[in-house]
Amino acid sequence: MIIPFSPPYNDADVEDEVLDSLRSGWITTGPKVKALEDEVCNYVGVESALGVNSATSAMMLVLHWYGITKGDEVIVPAYTYCATALVAMHIGAKVIIVDVGDDFNIDVDKIELAITEKTKAIIPVDFAGWPCDYEAINTLVKKPSVKNKFIAKGIQQEKLGRILVMSDAAHAFGAYYKNKRVGVWADISVFSFHAVKNLTTAEGGAICIHLPKPFNNKEVYHTLRLWSLNGQTKDAFSKSKAGGWKYDVVYPGFKMNLPDVLAAIGLAQIRKYSDVLLKERKRVFDFYSEAFKKFSWAWLPPYDKDGCSGSYHLYPLRIKNISEEQRDEIIEKISATGIAVNVHFIPLPMLTVFKNMGYQINNFPVAYKNYAAEISLPIYPQLHKEACVYIVQHVVESVQSVLSK
Ligand SMILES: *Cc1c(COP(=O)(O)O)cnc(C)c1O
Repeated sequence: MIIPFSPPYNDADVEDEVLDSLRSGWITTGPKVKALEDEVCNYVGVESALGVNSATSAMMLVLHWYGITKGDEVIVPAYTYCATALVAMHIGAKVIIVDVGDDFNIDVDKIELAITEKTKAIIPVDFAGWPCDYEAINTLVKKPSVKNKFIAKGIQQEKLGRILVMSDAAHAFGAYYKNKRVGVWADISVFSFHAVKNLTTAEGGAICIHLPKPFNNKEVYHTLRLWSLNGQTKDAFSKSKAGGWKYDVVYPGFKMNLPDVLAAIGLAQIRKYSDVLLKERKRVFDFYSEAFKKFSWAWLPPYDKDGCSGSYHLYPLRIKNISEEQRDEIIEKISATGIAVNVHFIPLPMLTVFKNMGYQINNFPVAYKNYAAEISLPIYPQLHKEACVYIVQHVVESVQSVLSK
């Protein structure tokens, strides 16, 4: 059986919505993006959500909006996709990498040790869609000893008066932390709608704005929207109407807007997100957990507890007490049966760009332990029962044959 790792979800509703955009004569940012933003707000429970062309550019935009620049520091977990760290580098800030815990997510005690008077933002990641400990992070940034270190530069930093918590929620659309959706826990949460993510627009993302008072989240939305469209006061859609030609450019903005024809894909998906997409992912997740829990070598991913539930974006199975080489050998065996698996992620300190900055993996023992033991199994709504059975059978056989050597 040939089983791809993560094909996008497509059906007649997705195709209809895309065709509707094409036939409307308007394919870039316009009504479909607005409709998707409204759906995201409703779903997540925030006042404002901005559609953007990727989570990477969105995170860069937010850090820039917060006035972060050369000389500042941004804290990120070791166990994430490179984009979490690269966005800070793009705006000239220094990346400070900290280790994670057994749940793959950033270790909040390690954050505290890494905070200096240069720290401007923390970017926690909800790995595999499992929420990080938002309450602990929020408590930390408000702690007097941490707040007193903060040196505010510019109006946004003066308004917030502390380190910004910007969640890289690329994996976590639909996840819950303490009975509320991910998106309402950080000051700003960024979702990715990249092709492999739970909800997709092929490329794209959304910035959920949930800043405390005195911020006006609608106002921040409008500011970020301008920044995402060259700083131009009228977007192409408004200008396309008769008499709407006049505009000004008020900031040296970026070009990070989401096109309607792409938003259409996500719009059709979000309408059935809970009832179909997330539910079917959970079915696969539960099937794996039920099957693997019988084996003493299996280390199951974190699962629903205390009002927290993941988005089942990945199924990061870990095999206890194996070396990186044994893990690679298991992957080779699984791959030979036609099943595409992956490793999420190669920890940042193992990548050349961060090694060149002086980072060494021995200083991130938990990230390394997670990485060396991890195999991400296919998980998506279209994965039918027979495929799940086939995957479990071949994973078990591959693991056991390597372990028995
Ligand atoms: C996918 C991903 C991103 C980047 O998302 P894009 O929309 O492709 O820019 C960022 N962080 C994590 C953890 C991701 O998995």
